Amino acid sequence: MTTETSNTATTTATGMSAATGTATASVLRTPYQRSVAAYWNINRNDPVNLRLGEIDGLYHHHYGIGEVDPSVLVGPAETRDERIIAELHRLETAQANLLLDHLGDISPTDLLLDAGSGRGGTSLMAHQRFGCRVDGVTISEYQVGFANEQAAAHGVSDQVRFHFRNMLGTGFETGSRQGIWTNETTMYVDLFELFGEFSRLLPFGGRYVCITGCFNDITGGRSKAVSRIDEHYTCNIHRRSDYFRALAANRLAPINVFDLTDATIPYWELRAESSVATGIEEAFLNAYREGSFHYLLIVADRI
Ligand code: SAH
Repeated sequence: MTTETSNTATTTATGMSAATGTATASVLRTPYQRSVAAYWNINRNDPVNLRLGEIDGLYHHHYGIGEVDPSVLVGPAETRDERIIAELHRLETAQANLLLDHLGDISPTDLLLDAGSGRGGTSLMAHQRFGCRVDGVTISEYQVGFANEQAAAHGVSDQVRFHFRNMLGTGFETGSRQGIWTNETTMYVDLFELFGEFSRLLPFGGRYVCITGCFNDITGGRSKAVSRIDEHYTCNIHRRSDYFRALAANRLAPINVFDLTDATIPYWELRAESSVATGIEEAFLNAYREGSFHYLLIVADRI
């Protein structure tokens, strides 16, 4: 692993680094990356993520899977909102657990990488499960600070560390990672570049796990609903086939692919009913129901 250079920068309200302009320029290489970073730096009052994370200190920026407990929709009105929030969080944590189930045998001496780590929930869960060191990288300096505070609050700062780095060029040592995952981050980058970097970081037999939304080659181009999601998050959702082309081009051989689309729809239905709905729920539900968009888990080995 290389020396840490830039994860202590202070961030102003505009999302720009106050102290480390040079470091920022080397991490955020393009105007597009700067706009993605600004999105995550500026949006700090997001109850859909914060209220859920406050429950147990695991802050997620991804969606949920599994059946909804219908009892949260009935019962005393004064506790309903709180129960719905807890249920959304349970489903998001279940999603992260499913991802971690597919990392294979990880020993406490292995190193893991959470590429596009957000506020860090999945990294903390990985450490709790495997007892090993985890590095998370994100292009949002605000998120780096927030996630490192969570690691400290969990008493694992020496084991789980978050860095202001670009996942397209992490600076970590070649072959140093037994496992890497991306939990809803691949829509922000070029897949060939990303998997090239992962292929460098993984040794032969290392494991990559991806959860992502992708658009359906079979229904044709980007649907209106998928375009709305792109617009909402400043991202570029890839087509399904792009994932497999980019994996194959970078010595990453898929061992499992699961279609989680049906498993995520109940989460979106519940979220649409909740006080933390953001307005994007309808686009996700339309895209999934019309078949123009899939929620996939892809597991690949470095060969
Ligand atoms: N994986 C996290 C966060 C998902 S949100 C979770 O499951 O909670 C998308 C994340 O991708 C954000 O943290 C954003 O900063 C990060 N991201 C986007 N482009 C990136 C890049 N080029 N390098 C590193 N992180 C990136």
